[in-house]
Amino acid sequence: KNRPKAITEILSDGVQQFGEKVAVATEEHELTYKELDDLSSIAAANLQQAGIEKGDRVAAVIGNRHEFPIMVFACSKIGAIMVPINVKLAMEEIEYILGHSKPKVIIVEQEFTKKVRQAAEASGSLEAGSRLFEIEGENTFSSLLEQNAELTEAAISEEDGAFILYTSGTTGRPKGAVLSHINVIHSVMNYKYVFQTDDTMKTLIAVPMFHVTGLVGQLLHVLYVGGTVYSMKRYQNEAYIERILKDQINFLFNVPTIFIMMSTSEKFQNHSFDFVKKVAFGGSPIYQQTFNMLKQAFPNAQLHNAYGSTETTSPATLMPVSYPEAKVTSVGRPVAVADIKIMDSEGNECEPGESGELYIKGPMVVKEYWDNPEANLSSFTDGYWHSGDLGIMDDEGYIYIRDRKKDMINRAGEKIFSIEVEDVLKSHPDVVEAAVIGIPDPVFGEKVKAFVVGPSLDPDDFSMLKEHCRKSLAKFKVPEEFEIIESLPRNASGKILKNTLKQVGGEKNA
Ligand code: ATP
Repeated sequence: KNRPKAITEILSDGVQQFGEKVAVATEEHELTYKELDDLSSIAAANLQQAGIEKGDRVAAVIGNRHEFPIMVFACSKIGAIMVPINVKLAMEEIEYILGHSKPKVIIVEQEFTKKVRQAAEASGSLEAGSRLFEIEGENTFSSLLEQNAELTEAAISEEDGAFILYTSGTTGRPKGAVLSHINVIHSVMNYKYVFQTDDTMKTLIAVPMFHVTGLVGQLLHVLYVGGTVYSMKRYQNEAYIERILKDQINFLFNVPTIFIMMSTSEKFQNHSFDFVKKVAFGGSPIYQQTFNMLKQAFPNAQLHNAYGSTETTSPATLMPVSYPEAKVTSVGRPVAVADIKIMDSEGNECEPGESGELYIKGPMVVKEYWDNPEANLSSFTDGYWHSGDLGIMDDEGYIYIRDRKKDMINRAGEKIFSIEVEDVLKSHPDVVEAAVIGIPDPVFGEKVKAFVVGPSLDPDDFSMLKEHCRKSLAKFKVPEEFEIIESLPRNASGKILKNTLKQVGGEKNA
């Protein structure tokens, strides 16, 4: 059979082959392939009746619940572009995304209604005619699931946008990566062929569905191969382990932090996980000891490092099923359709073994950021996306990520650009200067530390600064550590020497 041309075909193929099988099992609901198809058609028809046309944006501030996959397929049936928004973002951050993506409809889970309504009002979205649907509450989401309109499926071309996923950016403002249907199709195929996944797969999504790994690496990938997708609203160690055991989850895909947390549980240590067939990890670097632990804990599983980003619609490199023992610290090889170059700072391609920035091209790489000509110009060269990651490719094509060029902190897979936090700190009247770095953390990989200059700051109490950050930033971005410094170290041209700060910060935390 030909490959799917649009995301809707992932589901329609699933219905044909596995109609009555459970496709999605959240904490509260189970939906078969057929039910997911029917409900998403009803929601699609209602969205259409509400005036949503092909290319219109539909924002969703929803956690891991069954409404999420329903919206994924509802949007793709009518050619609308879904904008999943991180539920943890602060009001101002959501305001920016709504103002920038200009959705005609915003679907929101009740827990987040207050901040999303405020954000929608502040961004002018509601004034411009956007409609807000709460999942519970007055203007309910369930009205979208009542059959009262006929659906006219849109004609989708492969290059049409399917999702806009906002990622933090070097300018301090998030950028909306536009994932097309073909980007997603290539991504799920890449996973299938390298991981060798099939319809026996059961995965449990503990990471958010609004990030690319949960969305494409688990949800759409596992539906594509005909498996079952289980999900949890929030990651909780014991509950997660219990669910794996109860539902015999055989395909795990997580950030390393989750595996580290699991390994501390007695339940984990005292049970056998010999039924697990695949264990994938990505989103941040893995420690060698975590890798060793996984090997022991999951004796029958293939282990796969997956390196990628939102802009590569998840995997750019994957560790193949059989890999040489000597290469366990590698993130694997470029996926079959990828073209990865390692570039030095002068813009020349590196020799094997030489370190440089990864430039990534291929049908899984997004073509653009939404309405952002500057970022489109600076982030792509001849279709190659500049990853900002530094690494090497060995002479057998295995890639090793060694460092980062982008000034970003990777906290358990959540990405924080230093500038976002620095801008907020500098807006506090007592802060003269601020610089933010990532310092090593055994569980989270990195955590956020701020160096601040300000004569009137109290070195024993940073609660005021934390509170100040909390107003404008998601909690995971708020510095966990502060240090007052007399002046920031700078080079001759005035650039802050973050490596010097890292040495200072690192030593203090050693
Ligand atoms: P998700 O957002 O679902 O966690 P993701 O991490 O693949 O997915 P982004 O959030 O866009 O996507 O972050 C991409 C960055 O994460 C990469 O540029 C790289 O710095 C880092 N990263 C991703 N995978 C790995 C990996 N396997 N090893 C080391 N770093 C990784």
